[in-house]
Amino acid sequence: MNNLITAKFGGTSLADASQIKKAAEIIKSNPARKFVVASAPGKRFSDDIKITDLLYKCHSQAKNGEDFSGTLAKISERYAGIIKELGVDFDIKNEIEIIRKNLEAGTTPDYPASRGEYINSKIIAKFLGWTFVDAAEIIFFDENGFLDENKTFTTAGEKLKSLENAVIPGFYGSMPDGKIKTFSRGGSDVTGSIIARSVSADLYENWTDVSGMLSADPRIVKDPKVIEYITYTELRELSYMGASVLHEDAVFPVRKAGIPINIRNTNKPDDNGTLIAASLPDNIEKRAVTGIAGRKGFSSIRVDKSMMNGETGFGAKLLYIFARNGIPFEHCPTGIDTISVVVNSELFDQKREIILREIKSELDPDFITIEKNLAAIAVVGEGMISAKGMAARVFDALAKAGVNIRMIDQGSDELNIIVGIDEGNYEKALNALYSGMIA
Ligand code: ASP
Repeated sequence: MNNLITAKFGGTSLADASQIKKAAEIIKSNPARKFVVASAPGKRFSDDIKITDLLYKCHSQAKNGEDFSGTLAKISERYAGIIKELGVDFDIKNEIEIIRKNLEAGTTPDYPASRGEYINSKIIAKFLGWTFVDAAEIIFFDENGFLDENKTFTTAGEKLKSLENAVIPGFYGSMPDGKIKTFSRGGSDVTGSIIARSVSADLYENWTDVSGMLSADPRIVKDPKVIEYITYTELRELSYMGASVLHEDAVFPVRKAGIPINIRNTNKPDDNGTLIAASLPDNIEKRAVTGIAGRKGFSSIRVDKSMMNGETGFGAKLLYIFARNGIPFEHCPTGIDTISVVVNSELFDQKREIILREIKSELDPDFITIEKNLAAIAVVGEGMISAKGMAARVFDALAKAGVNIRMIDQGSDELNIIVGIDEGNYEKALNALYSGMIA
């Protein structure tokens, strides 16, 4: 039983009055949903413009001395439509006037950007008959712009727990001087997580427009299965490799407190979505593979030197050359007399000549071989530790599809197997791995 739920609704879930009504129905259907975090109205259709984007546009127009009144009028009209259809009493003209004055006075972009969630949350609070709590009063950043966790968790916790229920705008908080600061784009997910943590919620629900996280990229694999349960660690691995469902920083606050996250679909509220937790529930059969994700754009720099294995510090010196040049390495498979460093091609290309020169002069290798246009695919699953023959299945699936493997890396935690392949084989390989490991 979840006694206390923090529910965050994303931009498409609150894009117009009919979406807000759906969200309100979901909120009211479970009394445990006492704290709601709202995004700004997002896209209603694919080439619609998000309110947040319009607000940023107002700011850049104002900064360039251009007329922003047309853009601001669009924002005002959109809210006016929502207010009318919801039948709430709300003075949008006054709110827009305050934004206009601040833009004219030369505000930072964060302030107007934050007004999308601010106004939407005030309207939603009125519609629900709930209290509105401004995020600027409960979410705090330090002088360096990092979240002041202690102050935030304590203040938000105390304030919210004294209330029956509340709507809190996502995406922003305040600096020590009181100025508004936003998180990076998509940051309402982070606010939801912070609020869940502050009130010690039993569950953080993240309501969006998909029925959970998919086990492979749907642009490449047809109808991939929804992941029902995933651990935080698996999520981290899949997100790192390109799967996206939540803002990256949204996991940490709830993860530390062991609060599970449930990704749900506002348009299909009966779907269970994806549950993200520290470990899988006991009654769930452990699957070996949870998901597959990949990225293109890697290069591998392979260094060969006979008797390398007898040379102490060879690998450290090689990695230090990359580090010194500001290039993080992604993987580092080694052989007896070979070592490869896999890096982001774009970053590497900027420092290519200097790195090669330094490798030659400092390590005196027999050969250096560079392979460009590599893609990496990670097959991720906590059950992989105990399942036998997983690597064989990965190689078999790729061999049957005629995909040559250029690199293999199994994380030390045995949570994933990563293969490097030619970018040209990426789509084929992803489909082969999905059919062989998940479908
Ligand atoms: N409205 C903000 C954005 O578009 C934040 C969010 O929706 O999470 O990025």
